Amino acid sequence: MPLATDKLRAWAEVDLGQLERNLANIRAALPPHLRYVAVIKADAYGHGSTAVATRLMRAGADLFAVANIDEAAALREIGSGWPILILSAVLPSERPEVFAHNVTPTVSSVEEVRAFAEEARTRGCVLGIHLKIDTGMGRLGVWHEDAAALTSEIRSHKSLRLEGVYTHFACADSDAAVTGEQRGRFLRCLDTAGLAQSPGLIIHADNSAGIDTFPSGGPFNGARVGLLQFGVRPYAGSLLANVAVEPVFSFRARVALVKSLPSGTAVSYGHTHTLRRPSRLAILAAGYADGIPTRMSNRGRVLIHGYECPIVGRVTMDQTLVDVTDLSRPVVPGDTATLIGTQDDARLGVEDFAAAADQIPWETFCSISKRVRRVYRLDSAL
Ligand SMILES: *Cc1c(COP(=O)(O)O)cnc(C)c1O
Repeated sequence: MPLATDKLRAWAEVDLGQLERNLANIRAALPPHLRYVAVIKADAYGHGSTAVATRLMRAGADLFAVANIDEAAALREIGSGWPILILSAVLPSERPEVFAHNVTPTVSSVEEVRAFAEEARTRGCVLGIHLKIDTGMGRLGVWHEDAAALTSEIRSHKSLRLEGVYTHFACADSDAAVTGEQRGRFLRCLDTAGLAQSPGLIIHADNSAGIDTFPSGGPFNGARVGLLQFGVRPYAGSLLANVAVEPVFSFRARVALVKSLPSGTAVSYGHTHTLRRPSRLAILAAGYADGIPTRMSNRGRVLIHGYECPIVGRVTMDQTLVDVTDLSRPVVPGDTATLIGTQDDARLGVEDFAAAADQIPWETFCSISKRVRRVYRLDSAL
């Protein structure tokens, strides 16, 4: 079914059937007992959390992870029974909402443990929590040497139930030695604190890049999958080549005007580009307010009629200039320019966009703004 995009100036297409296939293929590449923690923070990496979460619920996710209480509350609206883990530290003022929305906080400190235990006791309930251990990221988590003591503290509170233990890798996509060392520290913590054999405990360390080296055997029974489920490998050279995932997200903008300009004309703010020949320019109906960063000025490329055309001059708030002089077929207003995605036989990946924008793919997805309507391809996976 064609998507109704003809009235849109800039839009993102999200292929939910492909998302579903990606989840199935990632699962198939991992041990069958693995809990699939679907990371859908930041509006599901800009893909739209409601549509993405709804489809992932159907596709076989076990658990959802979000950044904060607001994201957790929004997700709770669409799935009452689902476990939802908050990955960031919960602010003291947000603690009551953890109970109100029945979501699972991450704890890293004795202060958090005591405050949650007290609040749960007062409310007469038992709160499920995940303990995070810092094995070398230096961000959240109790420092690994102090993890056993904090585990005892947690166990001393009847109003808390330890449901998961996890760590986070700092260099999963860049340094296998560091990742190995972090994994080793984590495993030693689990042993020291007597957690490795706790029944029902979710033990997770790997993000998309970590999955590359998911150990067979060992106590790990969960993985937190973010970027990979959207069909993007976390780094070039990833071993995940055998996991069949395809991109889910395309970013397109409409050509709003086409014009010819004489050789020698300097274009856009600051006159950073001068035309060296009589040129045809297509003016796109999207700019930095839509998520095309100014860093892409004179650097980025877009597909029009399946050809890569260079962005010329400075990207402006609502419009971007593209040189279409070399195209054999005339470009006309209303034509589609593809910034991320396929067009005819050509493809520009989010990795290409990110490289030209000095971003990482995660950041690109989060930078494509609200003005860019997300439209969903709803076809089922099979
Ligand atoms: C965002 C995040 C993930 C997912 O990372 P990807 O690289 O997108 O797979 C996993 N764990 C934590 C703690 C995160 O913040």
